[in-house]
Amino acid sequence: MPDHAHEPLDDREVLAACRVHSDTALADHDPRATFGWDKDAAKDRFRIVADEVSELQKRLFAADERALLMVLQGIDAGGKGGTIRSVMNRLNPAGVSVHGFGVPSDEERAHDFLWRIHDHAPERGKIAVFDRSHYEDVLVVRVKDLVPEPVWRKRYEHIRNFEELLDDEGTTVVKFFLDVSKEKQRERLQDRIDDPDERWKFRKGDLDDRVMWDDYQAAFQEALRETSTDAAPWYVVPGDRKWVRNLVVALALRHHLEQIGPEYPPAEEDIDGLVVE
Ligand code: AMP
Ligand code: MG
Repeated sequence: MPDHAHEPLDDREVLAACRVHSDTALADHDPRATFGWDKDAAKDRFRIVADEVSELQKRLFAADERALLMVLQGIDAGGKGGTIRSVMNRLNPAGVSVHGFGVPSDEERAHDFLWRIHDHAPERGKIAVFDRSHYEDVLVVRVKDLVPEPVWRKRYEHIRNFEELLDDEGTTVVKFFLDVSKEKQRERLQDRIDDPDERWKFRKGDLDDRVMWDDYQAAFQEALRETSTDAAPWYVVPGDRKWVRNLVVALALRHHLEQIGPEYPPAEEDIDGLVVE
């Protein structure tokens, strides 16, 4: 990504710069990118955009026609939890669900990889957030060789079809890869080890994944390229700076909610002038 440090991009240019295409190279995306934004101004803008997202969510809920599914992927300490906290903070909790996908249970493993996913897709009017998702089945599964290559490779197509089905049937799918540098992950993992209140988040296995950094990056890049469609686009979000990350995610959510364009349903007739006794 070119350095725009002296020339702030407008919202549309930022989303275009982050949007994944079939030739996207993660090496061209800078996890420390700022798009020329000033930190304090970006934090102020985040609050404004998050409030606009909140207003759109009210309409989405009231209209009860379409839903939105937000998929978050990234390495350990990539900021998935923090993104959910800051971006979802201002939304009406009644209209939001968050589901984290961990190692599949025996029952889940006894089914196809999408079986456990579909059940958590949002109902009309709602926003669902996936903290990890069906993408683990072409990421960790690939890197750790948990199923043979022909099996995981075919999943790109299954995923494209699944997400197209969701879109056709009323669920807009928006996907975010939180792009964190190896050095930033080191810092954050070390903080987790050193801070007694954070230590619960740390597993020694996180370090095994870190050793496989390059394999994960290759798996992410291919998964993103193969599955970024008009029905379900991927965005690479610069993840080293939380204030950049939060604003980019909020801008994308606002954009896709505006595309849905939810409107409050018409009121019943003859309500004008009614007085409640
Ligand atoms: P966390 O998100 O830190 O709670 O960790 C969840 C763990 O579950 C991660 O190590 C993921 O790689 C793992 N995981 C999630 N989905 C799958 C899957 N389909 N197959 C194997 N491991 C998975
Ligand atoms: Mg973890």
